[in-house]
Amino acid sequence: MLEPGATIGILGGGQLARMLAMAGARLGLKSHIYSPTANEPAFDVCAGQTIAAYEDESALSHFAERVDVVTYEFENVPAATADFLAARKPVRPNPKVLALTQDRLAEKQFVQSLGIETAEFADVADAGALARAVARLGRPSILKTRRFGYDGKGQALLQGGADLATTFRALGGVPCILEGFVPFAKEISVVAARSVDGAFRAYDICENAHEHHILATTTVPASLRPETAAQAAQIARKIAEAADYVGVLAVEMFLVKEKAGDEEKLVVNEIAPRVHNSGHWTIDAALTSQFEQHMRAVAGWPLGDARRIGTAIMRNLIGEEAKRWREILEEDGACLHLYGKAEIRAGRKMGHVTYVVPDR
Ligand code: AMP
Repeated sequence: MLEPGATIGILGGGQLARMLAMAGARLGLKSHIYSPTANEPAFDVCAGQTIAAYEDESALSHFAERVDVVTYEFENVPAATADFLAARKPVRPNPKVLALTQDRLAEKQFVQSLGIETAEFADVADAGALARAVARLGRPSILKTRRFGYDGKGQALLQGGADLATTFRALGGVPCILEGFVPFAKEISVVAARSVDGAFRAYDICENAHEHHILATTTVPASLRPETAAQAAQIARKIAEAADYVGVLAVEMFLVKEKAGDEEKLVVNEIAPRVHNSGHWTIDAALTSQFEQHMRAVAGWPLGDARRIGTAIMRNLIGEEAKRWREILEEDGACLHLYGKAEIRAGRKMGHVTYVVPDR
């Protein structure tokens, strides 16, 4: 268990690292940010910084000497970087989790091995394998690169006419998986945390709406049956325990309504081994935010109370939407968060606003 005043090393300097550092500071924990690029959002709010490539072993050694534990704000940290650091300081969540979540094929196999449902999938190593996979899974189906996909990048919907070889080439000709199309009623996520000694706490279920493949809004609580909500949290727990996870994770799921009756079924889409955009509402509408929860967990501290204190709607401010900041400041119930990014770009997450209606 670290003492207040200890330093948490964070790989990545984006808004997630920024909000982690801010939450840590409230508890007297310092953050040292490691990022290959300068001018990142987290640099405004951290105690120490290293700007160096993830492959720079001398910079990594210095970083390891200056921090007490290492964590990360994104899952595409190179495996070699995580292993190098893990030989010097505790890395939480453990690097094995990175290997699982960086590869959609390994991730789906892991989830299925726990008896949890995913979309049907097939390993697609080349265009020939794609033709066989489509013959089995049918259309529509979704071709996704195994690695480095996010916000809808690295994936293609295969409809009736699409030419398979062309689609495979358009994704770069890299190893892919084909997923059967899940006819979901809604998308939800479970944001949860597990501590060093195995305690587990989940936030209430988040209901997520995407626009142009980027998360647009999260509404909490999600509207779903209480049994389904309990099952969703149970799924996240099973995954966290099987991965010997420490920290906050998010499990994205599809909610499928069975045609007959009002049965609901959950299908796991993706695991994010980090704090997650759909958990941003917890800063303003939960007793402990996901960022504080993660810092507590990686410091070896007890988890905080994850109860919600009101109904929350989080809206991302993407690109030009951030220009509405002045107007939002005057709105009732609006909690504004801006990430300090100098340049507005289309599709760039500039900030978010959470509207909270406190419970009576
Ligand atoms: P992902 O990058 O896997 O999170 O996918 C991005 C978005 O594409 C998801 O949020 C869904 O809206 C959609 N999607 C991904 N996989 C499937 C699937 N197997 N069936 C239906 N929709 C999907």
